[in-house]
Amino acid sequence: MDNCIFCKIANKQIPSSIVYEDDNLLAFKDINPAAPVHLLVIPKQHVATLSECTEEHAEVLGKMLALVPRLAAEHGISVTRGADGEPSGGFKTLINSGPDGGQEVYHLHLHLYGGPRPWRGMR
Ligand code: ADP
Repeated sequence: MDNCIFCKIANKQIPSSIVYEDDNLLAFKDINPAAPVHLLVIPKQHVATLSECTEEHAEVLGKMLALVPRLAAEHGISVTRGADGEPSGGFKTLINSGPDGGQEVYHLHLHLYGGPRPWRGMR
């Protein structure tokens, strides 16, 4: 898509802090982080919004989600368990869809937030 900022990032037409790349996906640091770790995972191929996804997109959607544990581990935000078995650490994933869902960039993206709280505007 000609005027899509995330397509331009995927095509390396504009710079970004890339943390992961393969044939289908790109992950990069959010330019305006709302948490100590704030990454975005996108499909390289343009899809405007989760609301327009169909069964055809199941594979790439699965890949986006399956990448999250690896990114979390690499950025120190995995869920861990202490000797007492209690969980600590962890992260939040979010896909905003449409105006009511708070979507501002119309290229499907998954937010990955983590790190010590508080985070901006989030519980
Ligand atoms: P919201 O801004 O409400 O989170 P979205 O879910 O559409 O809406 O998220 C778009 C995200 O893209 C924002 O977190 C924003 O900071 C980020 N962003 C916009 N432009 C860039 C860019 N050039 N590089 C990295 N992140 C960007």
